[in-house]
Amino acid sequence: MALTVVSDTGRAWRLTERIGNGSEGVVYAVDDPRPLVAKLVPDPPAPAGYRRRVARLVRQRREPRTVRLLAGTPVRIAWPLAAVRTDGPPDGAVDGYLMADLRRDHHPFAHLLAPAARRTALPRATWATALTAAHALARLVADLHAEGYVVGDLKPDNLWADGQGRVAIADVDSWQFTDAGELFPGRMGTPGYTAPERIGAQPGTPPDRAADDFVLAVLVHQLLTDGLHPFAGHPGDGGAYLSYDDNVLHGRCRLLDRASVVLPRSAPPVDLLPRRLRDLFRTAFAAGAVRPSASGWAEALAAEAAPNRLRGCAADARHVYTVERPWCPWCDLAETVAQQRGCAPGATERDGNAWPR
Ligand SMILES: [Zn+2]
Repeated sequence: MALTVVSDTGRAWRLTERIGNGSEGVVYAVDDPRPLVAKLVPDPPAPAGYRRRVARLVRQRREPRTVRLLAGTPVRIAWPLAAVRTDGPPDGAVDGYLMADLRRDHHPFAHLLAPAARRTALPRATWATALTAAHALARLVADLHAEGYVVGDLKPDNLWADGQGRVAIADVDSWQFTDAGELFPGRMGTPGYTAPERIGAQPGTPPDRAADDFVLAVLVHQLLTDGLHPFAGHPGDGGAYLSYDDNVLHGRCRLLDRASVVLPRSAPPVDLLPRRLRDLFRTAFAAGAVRPSASGWAEALAAEAAPNRLRGCAADARHVYTVERPWCPWCDLAETVAQQRGCAPGATERDGNAWPR
């Protein structure tokens, strides 16, 4: 049966197809001439609180701070445009909101991270595109931090990217913000995308900007290393690999201590990262260090994306790398993968999803 949603003012929209299923909501296409989707949250922990949160966000869209964030095209943030409820008896109604359909101008972020998906979905994307996307993501997080928002649950599932390296974000209803003196706390993070101080934290513990800055560094690393998580790898002491979060809690990270993890030979080498970025990663991931801010990342990434900091490969036009490298790291990687295939029949092609998780 087709669903219909209704706004506070009585306007109705027909939902056409289910297009996404998140951790706490379902996204539907909307029958409307504008590119809109509806996110419905069937079972929020506190329904009245969720309705108030969405209503405040809708109202904030007209505030100067939000107008600044939403300026420019294509849209960077799928801001809640109108609160809606499913049509029907009030006791069975599901709450949600309408937002811009990011599919019109973007791909799921994962298409840029994983090499196999990238070759199909964004075949012209290079390491320069990854740098541009990393810069765009850092700029986006810096801008929303500057306006008093915290993402809280930053992760690839909430992000979108295009072939030019532009980045957009959805799931604004899970952000943390203050409105008229009331704090609307952010959602807990997702495994693999949680700052160490928030792993195992009590639900409801408000995240802060530094927690976003940790996850930003994880995502920047993944963008620049074919999807490799900075805390990937089997423990170097021979212990069992449990999860990224377990490695995070134990500081098992190639950039912090080369011997702390074992990675396959086909893992992108550390030195494909420019020195300045390597230093920022180490500061972002080291226990007790003051993490680089999102604006600090944006500044460094913009500098490394400048044409005079990049070099093209003579053998393959899709290979781009930092001028700090004497020769092309992507050619080396391709050779390693080819050798491994030769030695290990049936080995699959290197893929962003193939790293130990
Ligand atoms: Zn090359």
